[in-house]
Amino acid sequence: MATQQPRIVIIGGGFGGLFTALGLKGAGDVTLISPEDHFLFTPMLYEYLSGEVEAWHIAPSYKELLDESVHLIRGNVSDVDFVAREISIEGREQRLAYDVLVLAVGGISNYANVEGAEKFALPFRKIADADALRARMIETLDRVPPDLAPQDARRALTFAVVGAGASGVELSTKMADLLRDAFVRRALRGEPRVMVIEMGEQVVPGMGDELRAFVEDALKQSRVEVHTQTRVRRVTEKGFTIEHDGEQTDVEAAAVVWTGGVRINPLIEKLNLEKNQRGLLLVEPTLQVRGHENIFALGDIAFYEDATPTLAGTAQLANQEATLCASNIRALLGGRELKTKHFEELGEAVSLGTERAAALVGDRAFGGALARQARFALYSARLPTWHHRLRVGASWFFEGTTPRPLKPLGIQN
Ligand SMILES: Cc1cc2nc3c(=O)[nH]c(=O)nc-3n(C[C@H](O)[C@H](O)[C@H](O)COP(=O)(O)OP(=O)(O)OC[C@H]3O[C@@H](n4cnc5c(N)ncnc54)[C@H](O)[C@@H]3O)c2cc1C
Repeated sequence: MATQQPRIVIIGGGFGGLFTALGLKGAGDVTLISPEDHFLFTPMLYEYLSGEVEAWHIAPSYKELLDESVHLIRGNVSDVDFVAREISIEGREQRLAYDVLVLAVGGISNYANVEGAEKFALPFRKIADADALRARMIETLDRVPPDLAPQDARRALTFAVVGAGASGVELSTKMADLLRDAFVRRALRGEPRVMVIEMGEQVVPGMGDELRAFVEDALKQSRVEVHTQTRVRRVTEKGFTIEHDGEQTDVEAAAVVWTGGVRINPLIEKLNLEKNQRGLLLVEPTLQVRGHENIFALGDIAFYEDATPTLAGTAQLANQEATLCASNIRALLGGRELKTKHFEELGEAVSLGTERAAALVGDRAFGGALARQARFALYSARLPTWHHRLRVGASWFFEGTTPRPLKPLGIQN
């Protein structure tokens, strides 16, 4: 009788899950479960919104990235039975058995119980979210006649981004540049209004002062209206209410985009595993879930102690952990000792509008067009496979990365 291969099931195909699967080639019978059919390189979703990159650059299908040795199941895992070692997938009667399980389901948008936010604010986490936002910007522009008075055009073209972390500033500067460009191309009068709302005292609270200076300058140049120490109290179909210094103001808006934080995935909330106060799974330095030798967890859902604190909740951390996770699964299956690792910051770059960026490499921060080039170089090197990196790198090098204007619907290129 042929010996059965160990069944390794990976839940989630983001930075943690996909890169673990890539590192497990030939290690066993590997299955990857994801609700989507593609990976998403989230750090460049802003460039996708502006048309500087295309879907095939940053959202390649799993079929393209993984060979036939990895089984793909499209679906949402709804539960795990740790005793029977089986998982349930929504809409499937049959449960799936595993010998080794990898939990890599990431986080979800945190609307912090703000009234109307989940219903009316637009999320910005997936390709479909970026498509929906771009469509909203174009539809809104299409409704503004060229002779509309500047103050009315500005009111009609008010957009708000909630949260001035890296996501919020990247998104608001891109939106502002795209909308201003559209005003010129369509000969509209006046200017659009893009607001970024932050409850903290300053923008990009997690970044150092040097990088923040580039960010603040870019927000100014892109004419983004920054509201710090301000809370969003309510989101409605037509706009939102903010509170600053105890005073509430209603603002009409064409869209409110939510980048105000990440919360624990409901699947992880449901599982009876050891967690910290924030609900993150406690893992050993080998990435094994506490008390479960055959279960590994990584990325946004796991609390890993031996990592530079600024790495928490980043693609960089999930990516580095995936390498350790895959090698420790091989070690476990081979009866070898499992390893531990310290994870370090590898350099970061934020995209600021359609012409600038700011990068932090080592302890040096720099900005402008050079940082924009550095960002493309840095990120093309972090794409999933060599084949994909080369194709995308060549496309950016030879064809460039110019934004795609917000042309009227029906004449998009
Ligand atoms: C717009 C945006 C920009 C970002 N920019 C940066 C950046 O510039 N630098 C940086 O370091 N980090 C960035 N991040 C954060 C980074 O994306 C995350 O830290 C990283 O993706 C975490 O990896 P992960 O594997 O834990 O989760 P994810 O990459 O989120 O992957 C989780 C996967 O699990 C799937 N899933 C969820 N629930 C289930 C379920 N029940 N069953 C099956 N599958 C499920 C999801 O669909 C998803 O594919 C950004 C995030 C966003 C949203």
